[in-house]
Amino acid sequence: MINSSLKELGAALAEKRISSVELATLLIERIEALNPTLNAFITVDREKTLAMARDADRRLGAGLAGPLTGIPLAHKDIFCSEGWLTTCGSKMLANFASPYDAHVVQLMKAAGLVTLGKTNMDEFAMGSSNETSFYGPVKNPWDNTRVPGGSSGGSAAAVAARLTPAATGTDTGGSIRQPAALCGLTGVKPTYGVVSRYGMIAFASSLDQGGPMAKSAEDCALLLSAMSGFDPRDSTSLDRPAEDYRRDLEKPLAGLKIGLPREFFAAGMAADVREAVDEALAEYRRQGAVTVEVSLPSSGLSVPAYYVIAPAEASSNLSRFDGVRYGYRAPEYTDLADMYCKTRAQGFGAEVKRRILIGTYVLSHGYYDAYYLQAQKIRRLIANDFVQAFRHCDIIMGPTTPSTAFALGAKSDDPVEMYLSDIYTIAVNLAGLPGMSIPCGFGGEGGKLPVGLQLIGNYFDEARMLGVAHRYQLATDWHKRMPEEA
Ligand code: GLN
Repeated sequence: MINSSLKELGAALAEKRISSVELATLLIERIEALNPTLNAFITVDREKTLAMARDADRRLGAGLAGPLTGIPLAHKDIFCSEGWLTTCGSKMLANFASPYDAHVVQLMKAAGLVTLGKTNMDEFAMGSSNETSFYGPVKNPWDNTRVPGGSSGGSAAAVAARLTPAATGTDTGGSIRQPAALCGLTGVKPTYGVVSRYGMIAFASSLDQGGPMAKSAEDCALLLSAMSGFDPRDSTSLDRPAEDYRRDLEKPLAGLKIGLPREFFAAGMAADVREAVDEALAEYRRQGAVTVEVSLPSSGLSVPAYYVIAPAEASSNLSRFDGVRYGYRAPEYTDLADMYCKTRAQGFGAEVKRRILIGTYVLSHGYYDAYYLQAQKIRRLIANDFVQAFRHCDIIMGPTTPSTAFALGAKSDDPVEMYLSDIYTIAVNLAGLPGMSIPCGFGGEGGKLPVGLQLIGNYFDEARMLGVAHRYQLATDWHKRMPEEA
């Protein structure tokens, strides 16, 4: 049961082979057994979960169920969930019980999904290893001495260890795709504007996008169909008709043109990642796709541009955490200014402070033109590179990450080294394009660590991208493998 697809779980629930309460109980017990080691969840609440499961069972019994009704789902702790703690991985929000649901949470509830808990994450989604969380690092279920990736590392570890069939994540620079790659999962970052940011605690608003993390592309297609849609409460939400992202799953690959960016296949990719990616591309050719070389000449500037733009937006977004409106307040202070200073000094961790400082600096009067404006120009060049590349191909492929999961602590003292974990993912956010990662083999010592293949679609081409991923998953079983201890 724990390794079943969402479709299989849906069928088991519909045919009454298992109830939602039984399924939720089974997973809560797994969480109780494995979470003390993995630290994938920040909050679990058996009573709340079981109440939702009972409700789902009633809907199933009354014949009012949809394809996802009764299936458990974990939410990254960045999504406001009514009545649940929503900490964003920070001491600043350690006491914040959200009074409302994020749009994503609302839609998932409406689809009948049962909230299993809130997953650990890098503080305010800033990180690539889950080590910046106030709640401690998450362990990679494939090797407990290694990171699961970040910032959606708790969601990734939870799905990989089969503590939940699926989870939500957010991706500002790679935070769905990178942990999906390092944990052997399928994770999708949609086109910017497809999933509402309402109730998703803001990091860098022009880049943030929510998306699903699950075992397969088919599961992700089902979840994305439920979680996307226009929301007037997010000014960047796109008013487009609802889509069924499963529509291209059965489409054959013959004639598909896959673009391989020269810059992604140059130096920098570890040999084991290269081997798995090459083998995946060979499978695509076997299925009738053709590969063409494309170029993204400005993509080398994506990490520097991102580390100006994202901190700039973060410095503004995080100004709301001031000890007055909500969240943490320093217990002792002399006056208002001192209260602000102490609250923010005590409530934020080192990486968050680093970003606030950088962001404030690049937006300051004297440096705005030199840094922020330049970064915005580079962002446009990067987006234009993709427009050019998509003239020659239908989809772009490459590695998701430069290496397999690294050891806990290996990069935590070197921010720049850590920032380079997202070298292949960040350009996609800067351009606003959809991207995903699918498992394509194993590397590392003894071949025990998952490798991810990244697929990048054109704007709003999620259905095709998911279809292209699904065809690969019909021919391979990487996405069905699970770590031994799980
Ligand atoms: N690792 C990147 C960062 O630290 C991306 C994080 C994300 O996508 N939320 O900013």
